[in-house]
Amino acid sequence: MTSSATAVVVGAGPNGLAAAVTLARAGVPVRVYERAGTLGGGSRTSELTEPGFLHDTCSAVHPMAYASAFFKRFGLRSRIRLINPEIPYGHGLDADRVVLAWRDLDRTAEALGPDAKAWRSLLEPFVNRPDLVGRITSDSPLRPPLAPLWLARVGLSVLDQGTALWDRRWQTEQAPALLTGAMGHPIQRMPAPGPTAAGLVLASLAHIEGWPIPVGGSQAISDALVDDARAHGVEFVTDHQVRSLDELGDASAVLFDTSPKALVQIAGDALPARYARRLRRYRYGGGAAKVDYALSGPVPWKSPELARAGTVHLGGSRGQMVAAENAVAAGRHPERPYVLVSQPATFDPSRAPEGRHLLWAYTHVPSGSTVDPTEAVTQRIEQFAPGFRDVVLASSSRSAAELEEHNPNYVGGDISVGHVGVTQLVARPVLSTDPWRTPAKGLYLCSSATPPGPGVHGVCGWRAALSALRHEFGVTTEPDLSP
Ligand SMILES: Cc1cc2nc3c(=O)[nH]c(=O)nc-3n(C[C@H](O)[C@H](O)[C@H](O)COP(=O)(O)OP(=O)(O)OC[C@H]3O[C@@H](n4cnc5c(N)ncnc54)[C@H](O)[C@@H]3O)c2cc1C
Repeated sequence: MTSSATAVVVGAGPNGLAAAVTLARAGVPVRVYERAGTLGGGSRTSELTEPGFLHDTCSAVHPMAYASAFFKRFGLRSRIRLINPEIPYGHGLDADRVVLAWRDLDRTAEALGPDAKAWRSLLEPFVNRPDLVGRITSDSPLRPPLAPLWLARVGLSVLDQGTALWDRRWQTEQAPALLTGAMGHPIQRMPAPGPTAAGLVLASLAHIEGWPIPVGGSQAISDALVDDARAHGVEFVTDHQVRSLDELGDASAVLFDTSPKALVQIAGDALPARYARRLRRYRYGGGAAKVDYALSGPVPWKSPELARAGTVHLGGSRGQMVAAENAVAAGRHPERPYVLVSQPATFDPSRAPEGRHLLWAYTHVPSGSTVDPTEAVTQRIEQFAPGFRDVVLASSSRSAAELEEHNPNYVGGDISVGHVGVTQLVARPVLSTDPWRTPAKGLYLCSSATPPGPGVHGVCGWRAALSALRHEFGVTTEPDLSP
């Protein structure tokens, strides 16, 4: 490495921060530009409603906190405190009927009655091989683990639940609804193999090690990354939206924690025309719209078991969820929306003033929707928790269009930064064994528009930084990231 070799990271989300940490740990001087006034991107916490209520502005629950190969090397679990609810997620079929996913696979299966065996046989191949799940979720899908029999088995599970024949396996309403709640995260038409693959991984992570919630909120993850970056000399420039490569001096590598759309706008002619065309064709998915509530007390769930779940999926039956998600894909606001809820103060009293609670909720809407989601989300929660309105002290909302204003990575409110279909899971953003590296010398994409995709795991940034270290700085050994 020459003494003048430096790197710039555009965007300080978890992936941009992971990239900065990795480069700095290898001895590269790094500067990070962030358009917002605070660091952390989609992993931040702030008082969105009233003083003392610490709301997560985007991510709240972190299924990849343990599985991420980057967080393993970074030693996340020894740097911050993670709460791991015994019930990672619960699902509301209606006010009186709920289904629970326990961390314990057997306990979950037993409660599913006639579908116990079907649940176990679907998820066991994943749950019994956490090492392989960790590898497929921490690399390019074009570099799968060398375990052909296992890959064939999990591939069959994806086909089993990713086509119109998906109900053949089940005898009751409970198990398919529980699984469809996890498969609904990618905001996409169902059944389809893309959301099924994502849902099966999420469902298995719940049984492998849980879906943890950081004490203090998702900001704790970003703060740990920022502290490490600063300790290794990274310089941060906030309130600075990068609009052109000319602003960035002569860095040897520039890593973009942005959408492919922004990369094309910023890099302009530096990108070969063919590659830029492919990025322009990159597909974005449906939108999310979010509501945060300050509450005078806990949510009055009609089924009190839901109070013990870290995440609650208010989706109804599988059929109702399909109707809701397919309406969104067709550009309509669903009559009975799928609402995802997290109730962190139940597990972490530091999140709200004494005796108070808070609720994080979002729903799926058509891309770019400007509709304020507050009434639709409140009504849906009321169906499962009559009297909910009476405990609401204040709320704050963001439509899908406002989510994009808040963070341009979320094009049209697409919090996955790109449609999560099979094609775009494999070609993310293009088909390559090193999809983080663009064909332009020194330019890298490190956001969740690269493998393994959405979520707070830092893997996209880490992989992009490893590629930049190899190709721009001649560093071929992985830097030590441990505390
Ligand atoms: C409502 C919502 C709920 C979510 N819930 C969860 C959850 O519970 N669990 C989970 O794991 N994930 C969740 N996610 C997804 C998760 O937040 C993202 O996948 C993750 O933050 C992606 O990290 P990133 O670093 O790629 O991008 P981001 O976190 O989006 O960070 C990108 C950063 O780049 C900055 N930036 C963009 N363009 C420029 C520019 N031109 N110049 C300078 N800075 C720029 C942005 O301001 C931002 O800070 C949620 C997201 C949303 C919006």
